[in-house]
Amino acid sequence: MPKNALVIGGGIGGLAAAVGLRRIGWTATVLERRPELGEVGAGMSQSPNALRALAELGVADEARAAGVPFHGVFNLRTPSGGHIVRALPGTTSPLLGFHRADLHRVLMDAVPAEWVRTGAQVTAVRQGADEVTVSCGAQEWTADLVVAADGVRSTVRHLLWPEAPGPRFWGNTVWRGIAHADGIDAGMTLGRGQYFLAMPVGRGRVYWALGARADRPAVRYDDELAEVRRRVHRWHDPIPRLLDATAPEAVLHHDITDLDPLSGYVRGRVVLLGDAAHAMHPDMAQGAAQALEDAVVLAAALAETADDVPAALARYDGQRRPRTQTIVEQARAKGLESTSGNAVSYHLRTLALRMVPSSRWPALAARALAPVWDWTPPRLSR
Ligand SMILES: Cc1cc2nc3c(=O)[nH]c(=O)nc-3n(C[C@H](O)[C@H](O)[C@H](O)COP(=O)(O)OP(=O)(O)OC[C@H]3O[C@@H](n4cnc5c(N)ncnc54)[C@H](O)[C@@H]3O)c2cc1C
Repeated sequence: MPKNALVIGGGIGGLAAAVGLRRIGWTATVLERRPELGEVGAGMSQSPNALRALAELGVADEARAAGVPFHGVFNLRTPSGGHIVRALPGTTSPLLGFHRADLHRVLMDAVPAEWVRTGAQVTAVRQGADEVTVSCGAQEWTADLVVAADGVRSTVRHLLWPEAPGPRFWGNTVWRGIAHADGIDAGMTLGRGQYFLAMPVGRGRVYWALGARADRPAVRYDDELAEVRRRVHRWHDPIPRLLDATAPEAVLHHDITDLDPLSGYVRGRVVLLGDAAHAMHPDMAQGAAQALEDAVVLAAALAETADDVPAALARYDGQRRPRTQTIVEQARAKGLESTSGNAVSYHLRTLALRMVPSSRWPALAARALAPVWDWTPPRLSR
């Protein structure tokens, strides 16, 4: 009999976990509280480590077909439009930009439809010696393992790690949208206290994001797009054009939170994965990337230790906790720097960036990010 897992959450992390389990011959049931699987209308970039994880999950070609090369980090501008760093003709990028729904679909297509239960909100978890049971209201499922990929506000973390503090707000907020526009170059505009990102994600769609400092969380505006326009008033083209090409009702506004380090990602036969374990600031573009890595490492550990699930989970915890918690810390520091309103630090930062010739920028960025980008996945065998 193949081993069986319950995966809680059908986001990128949960689906990647299910794909990994399938690759090693397990079966799984994905329990998603929403009535349908899907992702929000926004974008994301994926770095070489994430693309290697996707390859190990067996969806490299599909992911490459869904993504668009993303040069944004090599095209930095000031709000008036001056280039701090310019992507020179012929610059190749190791990053791919995705509409979130497209990447999510790549994973969804690799999970058997009969594995997925939507409208299934997990409310309780009960551990036995050799099995674990989860409840969704009156319905129960029992399995060898539970993978909790239920996001930053994880119910499972709340139930089994009651001592762990909840998500922490450090003062960053972000607006996101999808504009329908052609001929837009990827780029990032660095203002004082806020930044604007533009990322083509294919089929005439451009993902944009405005990250900014907020004194307190949960401040919302009747017209979020109007607030974005107000904040980037007179910023260079194509920013006004992108905002004009965005449906106001589709603008997303979220506060950024991250998690303090947990002392372990495993309790009995329950393991945390993705944002449930290590939600982070988006400024290193590693949240989903780390969830993809988690999925591959978990599957490899389970494959290697055969019947010994607790030993596999201990191995997963040992490999994933130090790496992900370091990245959470780095992403927080970068996030707070990118929205710092301090004039001196803003000028010093842009000055330092300007000192690097554009031609050397891709190699320098790759070197600086090597500890994150150079990750090599364990091999998954069927
Ligand atoms: C502004 C922004 C930009 C970002 N940019 C990038 C980027 O460029 N690159 C990158 O790699 N990452 C990026 N990220 C991070 C990335 O979005 C997340 O890390 C990733 O989506 C987490 O996936 P997940 O599956 O762990 O969690 P989620 O996507 O939150 O999925 C959790 C799922 O669990 C379900 N669920 C919750 N509770 C229950 C329950 N009790 N029972 C059943 N189901 C439940 C939810 O409905 C949801 O579908 C960004 C994040 C933000 C906010």
